[in-house]
Parts: sequence; C-alpha cells; structure tokens
Amino acid sequence: MNLIELKGVGEKTQALFEKLSIRTTNDLVRYYPVHYISYEEPVAIGAAPVGERASVRGIITRKSGLRKTARVTVLTQQISDPSGTLHLIWFNAPYLASTLRTGRHYIFCGRVTERSGKRWMEHPEVFTEEEYALRRSTLLPVYSLTKGLRNATVIRTMKQAFSEGACAPEYLPEGMLRVLGLLPEDEAVRSVHFPTSKESLLKARERIVFDEFFLFILALRTLRADAGIKKSPFVLRSSWEMDRFLDALPFRLTASQRRALGEIESDLTSGQVMKRLLQGDVGSGKTILAFAAMLLCAVNGYQSVLLAPTQVLAAQHYEKLCALIEAQGLPDLSPILLNGSMTASQKRKCKERIASGQANCVIATHAVLQEDVCFRDLALVITDEQHRFGVKQRGFLIDEERTPHMLVMSATPIPRTLGIVYYGDLSVSVLDEKPTDRLPVKNAVVGRNSRDASYRFIRKQLEKGHQAYIICPMVEPNEELECENVTEYAARIRKEFPEYRIDVLHGQMTGEKKEKIMASFASGDTKILVSTTVVEVGVDVPNATVMMIEDAERFGLATLHQLRGRIGRGDAQSYCIFIEGTQREESHERLSFLSRTNDGFEIAEKDFSMRGPGDLLGIRQSGDLFFDLADVSRDRDILAEAGESVSGILSDDPMLLLPEHALLKDRLTGYLVRINGNLIL
Ligand code: ADP
Ligand code: MG
Repeated sequence: MNLIELKGVGEKTQALFEKLSIRTTNDLVRYYPVHYISYEEPVAIGAAPVGERASVRGIITRKSGLRKTARVTVLTQQISDPSGTLHLIWFNAPYLASTLRTGRHYIFCGRVTERSGKRWMEHPEVFTEEEYALRRSTLLPVYSLTKGLRNATVIRTMKQAFSEGACAPEYLPEGMLRVLGLLPEDEAVRSVHFPTSKESLLKARERIVFDEFFLFILALRTLRADAGIKKSPFVLRSSWEMDRFLDALPFRLTASQRRALGEIESDLTSGQVMKRLLQGDVGSGKTILAFAAMLLCAVNGYQSVLLAPTQVLAAQHYEKLCALIEAQGLPDLSPILLNGSMTASQKRKCKERIASGQANCVIATHAVLQEDVCFRDLALVITDEQHRFGVKQRGFLIDEERTPHMLVMSATPIPRTLGIVYYGDLSVSVLDEKPTDRLPVKNAVVGRNSRDASYRFIRKQLEKGHQAYIICPMVEPNEELECENVTEYAARIRKEFPEYRIDVLHGQMTGEKKEKIMASFASGDTKILVSTTVVEVGVDVPNATVMMIEDAERFGLATLHQLRGRIGRGDAQSYCIFIEGTQREESHERLSFLSRTNDGFEIAEKDFSMRGPGDLLGIRQSGDLFFDLADVSRDRDILAEAGESVSGILSDDPMLLLPEHALLKDRLTGYLVRINGNLIL
C-alpha cells in the first residue's frame, strides 16, 4: 500500500517520506526508531537539569497567557512546586489554554532550558496523574527525520500503517518459533515501534535481529550451494618481482603483513580458487598487500581488479599505485582507473583497454563495475570494505569455468569465530599489528563546557594547514532528542570559523553529492567536515589531524573506533576529542576505555561485554548494509542461533519445497531481489 493512501498523508508528507526512501507502508514499518525516550519518575522542579529532558509535577500558579500574532499564538504558563518555578511555553496550541486549570496538578515532560535567568520548558507534553501512570512503562520512539518532517508525524503515520495491517503474514514455521521462543513477526515489528516496556522492546528486537541474520545466512547458503572448493584455471607462479617490489618500499612489512601475504600467495599458486578475507584494523596496511597481489597477477600475464566503495577512495588507491610505479618502474603493471564520474566516451575507452588486456590492473568503484565491463583474462578480484557496501558482481563476471580468485578486505573488527559464520566459507587472514612508525592518536574525553577550548585547539591545527572532522549523531534536529545534528551544527560553526570552508556530509545525500564533498575534503579545499558516521569508511585524508565527536556517549565503541581510524593516518600527531553530551558514570567509563586503547579487537570485545540491554536506548547506528537492527558483535548469540536454524532447515529440505516452507521461500526470493545481487558469492 502506498503511503499516500493512508488517511492524513497528503502529497507534502509523501514527498518528505520519499526523501527517506519510504514509499509504501511496508517501507514505513521497516523504518525503525533510532532511539527511545522513556517516561521517568517526575523530579522536583528545582532538580530538573538544564539542557536535559525531564518530567516534573507542578501546580499551575497563574492564569495562562495567550498572545496572538498574525502567524502564531503563544501560550505561556507558570508552574511551581516547593523547590522552584518553571515557565512553560507553547506555540500554536491555543486549545491547551482551556484544558489547563489554575490550581491543578499536572505532569509536564520536555527539555529544560534557561533564558534571561528563568527556567523554561518549550512545548512540554502534558499529562494528568492517571495519564502519566499509563505512560510510565512505555517508550516513545524517536526517528531520524528530514527537514519539515516531525517526529509526531512519523508516529501518527506509523500507527495508521499498522491499523491498515502493514505486515506480511508470518513466514517462519510455527514449530521453529516455538522452539526458539520468538515472537510472531507482525507483533515484533509493531512492538519495536511502540514498545509497552523495555522487556517487550528487547523481545521484539530479538525477533527482528533473528530474521535479519536468518535471511542473510539462508541467502548465502542457498546461493553458494554449489560453491565450495573449486579448481582454478589461474595457477600463478611466485615471482621475484614481488619480492623486489616489497624490498623497494620505503618501509618494511610488519610480521602480520608478511604472514597474510604468504597466505594470499600460497592460495594464488595453489591451483584452487582463492576466497580469502583479509581482516585488519584501520591503518594496518591492507592496501599494499592488494597491490602486491595485483602485481603478481600482472607478472603472470593476467588481469586483476581492485574495487573501492567510493570514487574518492578508488582515485586515492590509483594515485598511490601510480606513485609506486613512478618510484620503482614496475614495467609489468599497466594500471587504469574506472570511475562513475567519467564521461561516456572516457568510460568506453577504458573499457576497450580492459577488454583488450592492454590495461591489466584495474581500479574501480563497485558501482561502475555493474556496467558491462569485459575483461580479457581476469584472475583476481579484490574488494575493499566489502560488507559495508556490497559488491554487485553482475555485469562483469564471468563464465563459470573462469572464476577469478577473490580477496575481500575489511576493517571491521569482528571476532574471529564470527567471521566464519558471517563470511561463510572464506579463509581468513588477520593483520593484528600496525606499522609502528606512526604516532598513536591522542585522546581526550571532555564535557560540552570544553567546546570553546576544543575550537581553539582545532583553530590552531587549521592554522598549521591541517583539517578536522566533527561528528554528530543526527542529520536534522529532532524535537524529542537533545543531541547534535550536522545541519544546525555546521551553521553554528560557520560563524565560529568564518574564514574556513566547512562542508556537511550525511547518509541522506545522493551518492554523487557525497562523492563531491569527500573529494573536496580529500583535496584540502574543505577544512572542516561536519559529518554523521557515514564518513567511517570511504576516504583517506592523512592531513586531517583532529576529530571531534559530539555526544560521543551515544555511539557504540566499535563505531567510535572506526571513526577515529580516519585520523592518525599521516606523519603529524593526531587528536581525538570525545565530547560527552550527558555525563553518566557508565558512559564515561566506556569512553575512557577508548582513550586507553587503540586495539580494534579489544574494543570490539569490550563493546560487546559492556553494551547490556539497557543500552538499547542509545542511538542506533546506520550500521551494516545487510542489517537494520542486527549487530554482528552484540548479537552474536542470535547470529549463532540463526546459523543453526538455517542448517536445520536446509538439511531437511535443501530446495525449500515442503509446503510449510512455501512462505519462507517467497520471503527468500523477495530478500534476494531486495539486496539485488549484493552478496558475496
Ligand atoms: P588500511 O588497512 O586501513 O587500508 P592502508 O593500507 O591505507 O591501511 O595503510 C595506511 C598507511 O600505512 C598507508 O599510507 C601505507 O602506505 C602505510 N603502510 C602500510 N604498511 C606499512 C608498514 N609496514 N610500515 C609503515 N607504513 C605502512
Ligand atoms: Mg583501506
């Protein structure tokens, strides 16, 4: 059902939802909240902290003031309790004037601010004692918004969608749900939006996470049914050219780089098709190993391709490779860059050189490779940060007989055992040390009151010619949630740094726009990039030496670590400033842990052990390509369960032909269409 068919959704609202890629009621119910607000026990007015959301109980002490102008009506009220007085203000809500009685008690919920010596609550929700008692156990969903769309509108539309029956029928066999103790899907989806308690939210989330893993693994296993070990027509021979290449580098490989390269080389020369995951924290030096493997292919007379997630990164890889060729000669390599931003005729020329074999070392974006690119003799496909972006392998691959070797590079520090479930039958090489010559990032965990000092610090770095990242959790302001958003933040610091170019980057932008902005930052034109976590992968700017993360306690540790990996990539000392939006002991401990260690694996473990269920109320990350709610490290128990369930079903019914699996089969088909060939095969 299209959104516009819902009552109360007009063309304007439809267009706003469209911006968030929500077109149907089914899209809508899958648009999960990023956060929840709980209704806590009311506090004394005098104790309600400024800048935070609070519930207070107060008696209306004065008749309400109602003022009208041409554009707005302004309603003000004053409430008190023995500890203090609070002013309330609403815009365009005149009906409240008649509901609120002087001398009566109410409970008000909202954010407390301070202006001209008085304490205010703007647009508080109003409850009677009884109404509030009902609310106490529930959680209010908070959605990521776009300009013009209000949280309340999303909630209202969501409720409408559910009342129209937006969920598909249950597709998992009933027996399986019972054994695993999972909720029915429709109930879980509804309850994730409108939980009646924290426990019900957990239970609902468990089902949805299970489904995400289950379908992902099922898709992998069915697509790979005939995979397994395969003979390769590309049997490479080791070559002294590769050793010479490594000897001529300005640095020596680390022991783990040498070990990983040994594993890659032995795969490539083994006579079997390589399927290897090279996993190493940001900055561990994966790219150079990719180049070495590509060189080995070239020396053997074959082609190879390196796929990057963004155009900027593809261009950066290409430039690095060209610099190496410049320094060392390397006559076997003839590299070529194939980018989405090229003109049609440029692309055509590139494709001709690839088809003829003239170019033997192709660097491209995932996207461009979907177009019809023909290789003459493609022996090796390397993908960078694959699971974040996926690889659409249609279009250029390849007849069955000539399956190329495959190397997947990823920085996501997932625990090793998980890697196997996640990546199925890939072999895994791990880079567990970093080149030692780089200065470790210096960290600080501070409150918002240190912002000015932080800006002064950033200014000094900019004056030295460096660049800075500032990270905020949200794209647009959200009336329910007191945390920073890139849109308003950028406007603010443009005033703070009028002489520097400042850009905004976030996930709601088109790919093209993102590329432009990243390119401008990479070239050094943009000095400060105000971004959401989308900047986590996709650009390498060694000149950026500061990262300031607002509301840092709202992110998972693993995310913060990935973000921090964007700095400390050059010769200069880098600094990461974690700004705590609210100071709570537990979140302070988490952040302090981060400032003590820089080891991605250790951090992933800690993240897992420290993020209890209570953490569900934290801001959810956009996360993985394949999962909306699931988190491979935090939900590893569910992941394991999903893996076992898939095995169980496929061993009884490998083709999903049994009648009780009919709906499951349909769902799988839909899933495969939705991810659109994005799987690792
Ligand atoms: P990532 O694993 O995050 O992709 P990169 O491959 O981009 O890391 O490497 C980061 C930087 O470290 C690059 O500038 C690279 O040239 C450099 N580098 C790689 N290996 C070493 C090494 N063994 N010693 C010193 N520097 C290295
Ligand atoms: Mg990299």
